Amino acid sequence: MPVSNTSFLDLKSFFNHDNFRAGFFLGSSTYSCEKDRKQLAEQIGLNSENLVIPKQAHGHKVQFCKASGELADTDAIISNSENIVLSIQVADCIPLFILEKKSKIFGLVHAGWRGTAKRIVSKTIHEINKHGGCQKDIMALIGPSIKQCCFEIGPEVADEFSNDFLVKGNGDRSFLDLQGVVKKELMNAGIKIENIIDLDECTCCQPEKYYSYRRNGNRAGRMIAICGWV
Ligand SMILES: [Zn+2]
Repeated sequence: MPVSNTSFLDLKSFFNHDNFRAGFFLGSSTYSCEKDRKQLAEQIGLNSENLVIPKQAHGHKVQFCKASGELADTDAIISNSENIVLSIQVADCIPLFILEKKSKIFGLVHAGWRGTAKRIVSKTIHEINKHGGCQKDIMALIGPSIKQCCFEIGPEVADEFSNDFLVKGNGDRSFLDLQGVVKKELMNAGIKIENIIDLDECTCCQPEKYYSYRRNGNRAGRMIAICGWV
């Protein structure tokens, strides 16, 4: 699949709900935060006027969204409104899509190693519970992101994670299974294993499909995750 303005992964079938839309956009080399998100929201059938655009900070702040627009310093967003379209941007970090069908609460988490170490995933599930959602009805999808094959880290990062998710690399370096950490955290928070979908796509070793910060550095484009109700 070539990287271009118009290519995206349509993820709605994974959620198996007539009215829920989720997409992952491969972006463009001239990525425009506002223009591309609007265009891409429309491509999967969502109203681009309703976009929520967080300024991501690799933190652990979760926000329940009642209005569209920009948000400061937020890496996880949830809502239950049909008038809200959630969006985040990534280039190696995990875009985690969440849907709780009964309460209609949905969410997106920007889960890089920093946010994951700060337990942003379980904080998001906790916030969904607070707004009336239930773990047994939650589905979670791990989108394209850097996988253990490519995610070599230094000892100061490795210290943040259990050895269960590390394999030894060169010298004092190791390879981190960030998707494994996120799955474990979801299960510890009460999500059923059969409701966790991992697309199993590594952004770093597929240059023909994805941008990668690890591979391209600061010049890497950004990809967008979007979801909402129609
Ligand atoms: Zn890889």
